[in-house]
Amino acid sequence: MGALQLTYEPKFKIVHRTGELMRSHEAKSVQLWLSTDPLAEKFPSWNPYNYCMNNPINLIDPDGRESDDWRINYTDKNGKAQTFNYTGKETNLPDNQYVRDFVGAYQYNVGNGGGDSMKEIAENKNIIVDVRETGALSYADHSPNILKANSYNKVSWAPNVGLETTNGVVLSPATLLDHEADHALRFAKTPGTIIREGELHRKDYDNKEEQRVIQGSEQKTALKNGEIKPGQVTRNNHYGLPVITNSPTSNKVNVKATGAYLKENYPNIFVPGVNKYKYFK
Ligand SMILES: [Zn+2]
Repeated sequence: MGALQLTYEPKFKIVHRTGELMRSHEAKSVQLWLSTDPLAEKFPSWNPYNYCMNNPINLIDPDGRESDDWRINYTDKNGKAQTFNYTGKETNLPDNQYVRDFVGAYQYNVGNGGGDSMKEIAENKNIIVDVRETGALSYADHSPNILKANSYNKVSWAPNVGLETTNGVVLSPATLLDHEADHALRFAKTPGTIIREGELHRKDYDNKEEQRVIQGSEQKTALKNGEIKPGQVTRNNHYGLPVITNSPTSNKVNVKATGAYLKENYPNIFVPGVNKYKYFK
């Protein structure tokens, strides 16, 4: 099995307070790969500028009353930007598919006995994490202000994009959401540690933080969701092929939609009819 260069977090990045953009080893390797992709600009980016413009997370109530939840960012039917705060208990949801997909994934993970990071974010009174939709690949984005723990914890989640691993396991979008939640939670709790470990290179895992998440919460949530069997592992690296699944909680690949997705997002790499992994060596 060859090494795949594609990871599903092309924007795992750390923005230091100086405004200088620093990237983890993972991001460097992915950046190399993306540089061959004319559509790289399609990947959303939250730099310190649009972070302030789009999402004034520093408006969080300083006494923490509103800080114990997920903040789901979505666009309503009138095209207006909205947020919905979710603590794991709300049942009266707005009429919005992304919100419902998120809540469905949350309930699925937690209901199956996994999703520990998602649950803690929802319930921890000192932590808020923003989530918003991306159509490409899910990833976590971290703070420009490493001294303020919950200043900038964001997850971009693609509700239809799962991951086929090098072990032949398919992870649902719901499981990937918990993977990103683990990064976001740890950043919120110990930002200095995650930054340090995000820069500690680990062969195949890119960095120590990825190794921690993949060997930890990813295994538990995937097992609870029935995506791996006891004793099986999701992967022994940080690689995978993005695939479109039948639903946010499904790990069944929609082959036709996946072909269209890969062609649209990775036109220089995807060639129909040939072993898909060959393109990611
Ligand atoms: Zn990760």
